[in-house]
Amino acid sequence: MIRELIHDDAVLSQPCAAATAEDAAIAQDLVDTLAAAEDAACLAANQIGETKAIAAFVDDEERVHVIYNPKMLLGLGAYMAEERCLSHEEIVSVKRFAKVKVSFEELVDGKLVARRRDYTGFVAQMVQHMIDHCNGKLV
Ligand SMILES: [Zn+2]
Repeated sequence: MIRELIHDDAVLSQPCAAATAEDAAIAQDLVDTLAAAEDAACLAANQIGETKAIAAFVDDEERVHVIYNPKMLLGLGAYMAEERCLSHEEIVSVKRFAKVKVSFEELVDGKLVARRRDYTGFVAQMVQHMIDHCNGKLV
């Protein structure tokens, strides 16, 4: 179901609660809403008003990924990036890492499975932006 995007800082600045397999419906809404949003490659659950640590993003090959409870383990190659956010109009300068190691969970056959993955480039930047959202941090 396509949901409305939230622009309320009181919701967006709340650290999100840990997500569970029961939150699969929220994850689906996130995927639907992301697909319907123009010029958007990533979306966190609190941007549709659900303060659960779930995010969806589209990778370089146009594949959609949903990550539950993402956490950054390691970042290499700090640089300053210019970023925009669906929830805020203005372009902001923010410190990002070129390469990150991230732990997260993925829903497989109705159960959350722990994963670890390295990301680089634009996907790494999106994932860091998503993790910030899950922590209630806005660029
Ligand atoms: Zn954002």
